[in-house]
Amino acid sequence: MLNVPAQAFPASGSQQRAAAGGRSKVPLKPGRSLMDWIRLSKSGKDLTGLKGRLIEVTEQELAKHSKKDDCWICIRGLVYNVTPYMEYHPGGDDELMRAAGTDGTDLFDQVHRWVNYESMLKECLVGRMALKPLAATTETCCALPEEKKLLNGMLPKNKVLDTSSKDLTPSYDWFQTDYLVTVVIYTKQKGMNSEMVIVDYQDGRLRIDSILRDYSYLLHIELSYAVQEDIAVHVAEKVGKVEIVLKKKDNIAWSKLGQPLSSHNSFIKCTERGLYYRKCKLISKTEVTHDTKLFCLMLPQSTHLQVPVGHHIYLKQIIAGTEIVKPYTPVSFSLKSDFKEPSHHDRTHLILMIKIYPNGLFTPELDHLQIGDYISVSNSEGSFKKLQVQTLEDLFLLAAGTGFTPMVKLLNYVLTNVCSLRTVKLMFFNKTEDDILWRNQLEQLALKDKRFEVQFILSEPKKEGTGKQGKISSSLLSEFVKRSKKDSKVLICVCGPAPFTEQGIQFLQDLGYSKEEVHSFTA
Ligand code: FAD
Ligand code: NAD
Repeated sequence: MLNVPAQAFPASGSQQRAAAGGRSKVPLKPGRSLMDWIRLSKSGKDLTGLKGRLIEVTEQELAKHSKKDDCWICIRGLVYNVTPYMEYHPGGDDELMRAAGTDGTDLFDQVHRWVNYESMLKECLVGRMALKPLAATTETCCALPEEKKLLNGMLPKNKVLDTSSKDLTPSYDWFQTDYLVTVVIYTKQKGMNSEMVIVDYQDGRLRIDSILRDYSYLLHIELSYAVQEDIAVHVAEKVGKVEIVLKKKDNIAWSKLGQPLSSHNSFIKCTERGLYYRKCKLISKTEVTHDTKLFCLMLPQSTHLQVPVGHHIYLKQIIAGTEIVKPYTPVSFSLKSDFKEPSHHDRTHLILMIKIYPNGLFTPELDHLQIGDYISVSNSEGSFKKLQVQTLEDLFLLAAGTGFTPMVKLLNYVLTNVCSLRTVKLMFFNKTEDDILWRNQLEQLALKDKRFEVQFILSEPKKEGTGKQGKISSSLLSEFVKRSKKDSKVLICVCGPAPFTEQGIQFLQDLGYSKEEVHSFTA
């Protein structure tokens, strides 16, 4: 099978197509896996040709290094000589060449800004881009010292990124009683909910990230005094007001909230904000199938993080001295058709259903974690919006292997919350019957809820006659994704290996479904 390890550059175009924001890989030569790259980069070889010297690179100099055997790329102001990495790049050398001799930051961010290129390409660092003369810089606001940007919790006007006529820039304030300190964020956005606010408090530092459509409003403060771990988050949905309630440890009157830390009071595109990680404790590990396990992670008590339906988080581990990051989609503990409010457990734990690949880079290490060990977990990301299912009548789910994971929360959500729903059908593709995840639960759910139906399709069945055989195809889909009535509102969700997803999207397009009617889950 073809899986997607962390790669330092987006794949698309020539060698293999990328599925709607996802990535495909090209077959790499033997001895050219990510692990081999890590080994080479730790071998002490001079990979830049500069014997460890770092230089200032002008645009003209960068442009000179645009060939396969001499390729430099700039990412966020740092220049890397990626020539030795070419053969190890899972997206192929053509993909790297798309940014040869130029600033590849945008290209890189388009697909997987989460890949830790600083760590992966550390030994390829040539230096930084030479600064342009001041007159040429565009955003003067960024040149201001941090304290000059702060105006009692208001952002200066030139930091406003939303260009619509109405000023949608958030602001904040705070107040206190004898026992509590409350931070209030005026997001000015209707329909805010607690999934859009991520709070972390650690070592006296408070970090509040409010997600407002594609933007992130961050408060990042070293608090004047320590507070207790249990932090409450209240959201007034209609007016978009968020309150973070902190419990004082001593009833001292605070003269100020604290000192601003990096990026405090900034309002920027989510894609421009680096991923933030906190350490979560492994609470349990239970078998789902012969190679797939449920990992239950406990969030720190002082973290508020609720992963929305269809969104994923990133796990980070140091493997052979290199930071490796991979995405995973949290599931619920089980499938339910009466899933009301997230329970306290749902809000304090993350459940991940993860397949362990014996030859994989990341999952064998993950499998070695012991109960009580910690792992770094990022904020969540994803393009799926609950709005897509609000007035839905037919929902079709096409899942392959662990591509089932985003369907779990989605199933629980729609079966409970979407009143207009008439049918939910899951077509679940697996190699063998032993690979089917939660088969029993799926069959139980189909018995319990008449709206739900499941079909299993096996590509390598061990026994004859144990269900449908084959892979995703136009003929399988044309029968399966029929609307329950003419013009019914339909959504088809696809998730699995990149070629599966690509083919699924193509077949659905050929069957006449519009782009809005098809959603693929990708990183
Ligand atoms: P890898 O090192 O990536 O290897 C995986 C397999 O592919 C191995 O058998 C390996 O030998 C083979 N392989 C590696 N490179 C190549 C190559 N160039 N050519 C051919 N074969 C190759 N997974 C889950 O289990 N659960 C989830 O909830 C989940 N959610 C995800 C969400 C998103 C948005 C995305 C994009 C992926 C998700 N994944 C999920 C997949 C996950 O991110 C990892 O890709 C997966 O765990 C494999 O990681 P690994 O490093 O162990 O394996
Ligand atoms: P697998 O190798 O066990 O294959 C499961 C089924 O997928 C096969 O039985 C077959 O029907 C289909 N399939 C596999 N390769 C195919 C191909 N080349 N063309 C057409 N159909 C194909 O699957 P797995 O090891 O469980 O891998 C699951 C994949 O899902 C991984 O690539 C993972 O990255 C991806 N995934 C993505 C997300 C997401 O984007 N949100 C979430 C979870 C998993």
